[in-house]
Amino acid sequence: MSTEATEVVEQGVRRPPPEERSRTERTLALDPAAPLRRISIELERRCNLACLYCYTSATADYRGGLDEEEVRFVVREAVACGARAISVVAGGEALLRRTLLEPGESCLDYANALGAYTYLYTNATLVTERAARFLAARDVTVVGKLNSLKEDVQDALAGVPGSARLMRRGIDELLRAGLADDTPSRLGLETIICRQNYDELPDMWRFMRRHHIVPEVEIATDHGRAAANRSELYFAPAEAPQKYQALFEELLRIDRSEFGFDWVPQPPFAAGSCQLHFGNVYVNDRGGVQPCAGIDVPYGYLRVGTHAADGQSLRAIVTGTEVMRMRNVRENIEGACRSCELRDSCYGCRAAAHHALGDRFAADPTCWRAERARRRLPLLRVVP
Ligand code: SF4
Ligand code: SF4
Repeated sequence: MSTEATEVVEQGVRRPPPEERSRTERTLALDPAAPLRRISIELERRCNLACLYCYTSATADYRGGLDEEEVRFVVREAVACGARAISVVAGGEALLRRTLLEPGESCLDYANALGAYTYLYTNATLVTERAARFLAARDVTVVGKLNSLKEDVQDALAGVPGSARLMRRGIDELLRAGLADDTPSRLGLETIICRQNYDELPDMWRFMRRHHIVPEVEIATDHGRAAANRSELYFAPAEAPQKYQALFEELLRIDRSEFGFDWVPQPPFAAGSCQLHFGNVYVNDRGGVQPCAGIDVPYGYLRVGTHAADGQSLRAIVTGTEVMRMRNVRENIEGACRSCELRDSCYGCRAAAHHALGDRFAADPTCWRAERARRRLPLLRVVP
């Protein structure tokens, strides 16, 4: 643990941001020995936006994805493996699915009926008053999208003129429907950190905190359309860790001085850390079971779609050797992350290591602590 974190805990003043507590509680498995706590399900890769950083390269004319019965099948298998949180992510925009907002037909209703809490990721452009009320009445946390408070910047990042206004309208509807009234809040907004929004992220952070919205401000993973637009979106690798460090420290200063929250800055989320590899897997739109959204190499395929005949059960996949290796990420991590003082609370972003170095257990290349450690140590080998 860092000196900073130790001091805060010893003085007894650490007050974690509310989202830290709520996420942990809601993703606890009923049976701690169960192979799964949570699952993310990608419905399809169709989207009404064309974000420059989209990790699935979603398009408006995409065809395919999991059908309704396949989604239910995955939900059932996940619950049977112990999952108590179902995250509906869509590789594109989930609300393009007509059934998602139909009582009784919605996969949210289906998961709730099986005793699972749900998360819905949406770009919010299609959230009407009716949609917001429907969601407010379910056992769901909605995570919308907000990359910028400036219309021109948001439209450019979303790749579709007019999307900023639709997003803000959708967020307003979710606020009006009361999703942020609960404690912990059931409304989050996520954004990547990029050149275009870097300077306004402190203001966006304040906007979210003041509206009781959970901020998901994260370092993006470098794949899909993000890789194609890398130089336009991201800082060069040599300066990126310091830019992230400066931003996270400024957001922490705001949280401490204006909102009374304390946390330890570490990648890839401000005021949080990735915990998903301890109990989550990500099912893509072809039934491939990936470690997470960022690591797009499936462990195996479920018995759906083109793999209906040769696929595996979810239980067989999540109890396999490779998944177990990832569950023990702390024991298997390498480089600066292995010797890091924050190793007990952080493993960085495994997808960042996977895409930059071809090794999901390597040190997170976006981390300023890892960068410091690299500079202190002699370089003993060259990573190809
Ligand atoms: S070096 Fe690794 S474990 Fe340490 S803070 Fe950075 S990402 Fe987390
Ligand atoms: S490893 Fe990175 S991309 Fe994967 S779930 Fe964690 S934060 Fe997201």
